[in-house]
Amino acid sequence: MNVKQFEKAIDFYRLLAKEEMENEKIVNGTIIGPKSKVKKKNFDINDIIHPSRQFLGKNAGENLDSVYVSTFRIGHFNLPEQLASTGQGTTFVGGMEFGSNLVKQKIVKSLEDLRLLLADYKMGIVDVFNEKQEDGEKIMNIRVYECIECVDLPNIGKPICYFEAGIITGVLKELTKKDVIAEEKRCWTSGFSFCQFDVKIKD
Ligand SMILES: [Zn+2]
Repeated sequence: MNVKQFEKAIDFYRLLAKEEMENEKIVNGTIIGPKSKVKKKNFDINDIIHPSRQFLGKNAGENLDSVYVSTFRIGHFNLPEQLASTGQGTTFVGGMEFGSNLVKQKIVKSLEDLRLLLADYKMGIVDVFNEKQEDGEKIMNIRVYECIECVDLPNIGKPICYFEAGIITGVLKELTKKDVIAEEKRCWTSGFSFCQFDVKIKD
């Protein structure tokens, strides 16, 4: 993805995110976006196949992008359903170790490197915005657009990108050597067309 395509994607999704966040509501402590909710707890194969990604899918021929996004997700079925719904902590820790190793092995030396890596492997388009200092903590908002994990999935009333939250946490923890926590607040599976992570870095 070249700089021009990246900027175009960011502009497109920032506008969409603004519109959707104007129509969000809080239900039992969870932020829910404007897409209508479905009555199911877990996804089946019909939900995860045939996603479409207008920016990351651009340079992939025919339906190739849809194929490898689906293949990535089919891998999730190696967890029994019961474990999948309670295994969020495991997925988060897995992501954290992966993120931390990316830095330790010098594959990622900055957030910009992480952005390039996730775009190269078509995991998602990272948008870092809203950095501020508050009560001895650095607060950051990071969005991931066209996330391989959840793009086009229906709204089941909760975010699901624990692996990605773990990667962001692990990378920032290793880069800053501080306490970091990244929490996904908005996701395709909670009614939005993007993922948004609230990140806190403690001094
Ligand atoms: Zn998500």
